Formats: sequence, C-alpha cells, structure tokens
Amino acid sequence: MQHVTLNNGVVMPSVGFGVFRIPEDQAQRAVEDALEAGYRLIDTAAVYRNEQAVGRAVAAGGIARDELFVTTKVWVQHGGEAATKAAFDRSLGRLGLDYVDLYLIHQPFGDYYGSWRAMEQLNRAGQVRAIGVSNFLPDRLVDLILHNEIVPAVNQIETHVFFQRAGDAAVMREYGVQHESWGPLAQGGRGFFDDPLLAGIARAHGRSVAQIALRWLLQRGVVVIPKSVRPDRMAENIDVFDFELTDDEMARIATLDTGGSDARDHRDPAFARWIGTTRFDI
Ligand code: NDP
Repeated sequence: MQHVTLNNGVVMPSVGFGVFRIPEDQAQRAVEDALEAGYRLIDTAAVYRNEQAVGRAVAAGGIARDELFVTTKVWVQHGGEAATKAAFDRSLGRLGLDYVDLYLIHQPFGDYYGSWRAMEQLNRAGQVRAIGVSNFLPDRLVDLILHNEIVPAVNQIETHVFFQRAGDAAVMREYGVQHESWGPLAQGGRGFFDDPLLAGIARAHGRSVAQIALRWLLQRGVVVIPKSVRPDRMAENIDVFDFELTDDEMARIATLDTGGSDARDHRDPAFARWIGTTRFDI
C-alpha cells in the first residue's frame, strides 16, 4: 500500500474502500471482506446509512485501530456549528469509535461555514485527526480556506478518466489540499468497463480496465476509494502497485476527458433545491 501525507502530517492510504449504496444489511460483510483483502481506509457517510455496519465490521476485523483510517461525512441538513457537533457524536456512536481519521463536509450547501467551525474544534480536541470537504468546486474551496483557520486536508470530488478535474487539481495543489476521487470507476457508467482505449492499455499490461483507471489516478497523486461488493473485485482494485503506466499511456488516457459529470452538477439549481429540501432520518 502506498500512502499520502496530508497537510497536517496525518498519513492516509492511497487506496481505500467506498461503501456508498451498500445497504446496511450487506455493508458489514463487504467491509469485513475489504479488510481481509488488505484495505485499511474505509469511506462512509452519515447519509449512506451504513455507519453501524461499518463499525461492526471494524470491531469484528480485529485490526489495530491505529492501522485503520475511517472517513465519514456530515450531511447538509446538519449544517451549522451545533448541528454538526451533534451529528458527529451520532456518527461516532454508530461507528462505535472514539475518534475518526477524516471528517468531511459532504456537500457545499447550507451552513457549511458553521459546520467548518465545529470541525475545527473537533480537530483541535483530537476527536478527528483530519478535516476536509467534498464536492467543493475551486471557488468555494478557496473562499472557505481564506475565511477560516484550518485549511481542509482533503477535497473528495468526482474524478475519473471521463471527468479528470485538472483545473480543480491545480487549485488543490496550490493550497495543499489532497485530491481524493469519488467514483474512480466512473460508477461503471458511459461504457467505462468496455472503453476500447482503456481495454487496449489493460491488455498491454495484462491488467483489467479498473486497474488501469485506478493506476492512472494514483500516478496523478489522487487518492481512490473504489466500491465493490465482490471480494474478487476488491482484490483486483487494490492490486495496483506493481506496474506503471508510461507517459504515453498517461497522455492517451488524458484524451478521454469530457470535462463534465453524468452523475451530478453542483451548479444546477434543481440539485441545490433537492439537497436543500430533502431530509433523511440520520
Ligand atoms: P465506483 O466508481 O467505485 O464504481 C462502483 C461500481 O463499479 C459498482 O457498480 C461496482 O459493482 C463496480 N465495480 C467495482 N470494481 C469493479 C471491477 N474491478 N470490475 C468491474 N466492476 C467493478 O463508484 P462509487 O460511486 O461507489 O464511488 C466510490 C466511493 O466514493 C463510494 O463508495 C463512496 O464511498 C464515495 N462517493 C462519494 C461521493 C460524495 O459525494 N462524496 C459520491 C459518490 C461516491 P459491484 O459492487 O457489483 O462489484
């Protein structure tokens, strides 16, 4: 496993396991399998409603707490200082932990400045080793940095071969914010697994399309958190450290960029409305 060192010195694995859309009743099994496959970073969120299962798997896995890296996220409806602190306590309780490694603001909507102040306090109190954000476009990221004390350690944004985010990455580098990809396999969309360019490079290395796409992100310095409920795919997705893409292959993959998302548009008023009005039982 390779690691990155965040802007506050905390060390984070470069490959982790994402649990979005894994139902509570399957998530414990999936996380136990992922730990067995060698994953040490687990990425969940309050709104995924599987923190309890993640916590059970961590407890059952028997891996020393300081070898694990657990990320969770505060949802929009818990924006603001007091609500974020209460939401954090609930997440911690569901996870059965006494600290989390990385706590993220899930979305740049609502009172996320209030949330950030709460997170700065949680960080100083040692309840969270690193704090960061998710889905922040560069303008909101820079604004948050300029008007607060702690610079986010991480920005977790959709990033994959079809939506490469080079401009976002440049801003994050400038401010020392680690780029983390969600949806590193393009969530299987846009014909990802059958893409002829990726398939050609995969054949040349005797690897899978998933491995090529993950390796491409790692070589750009991006942390990846692929999700799978299948142990064979979990093993495949973490087996990406013993080969290297050439400069030419990196450049060819760069041509796949469409500059946009099929999943979400954070500038779409309809999305802001949905995020701002939907309530979850969390
Ligand atoms: P991914 O890009 O990781 O793709 C997951 C899909 O790919 C699943 O359908 C999975 O199916 C399939 N898959 C995984 N590995 C392989 C493989 N080797 N070969 C073939 N198919 C494969 O999408 P996610 O949306 O899950 O993103 C990863 C993580 O990022 C999430 O789980 C979550 O933790 C985080 N995330 C964060 C968001 C945010 O707003 N901050 C938004 C979305 C995700 P199967 O399980 O059947 O194998």
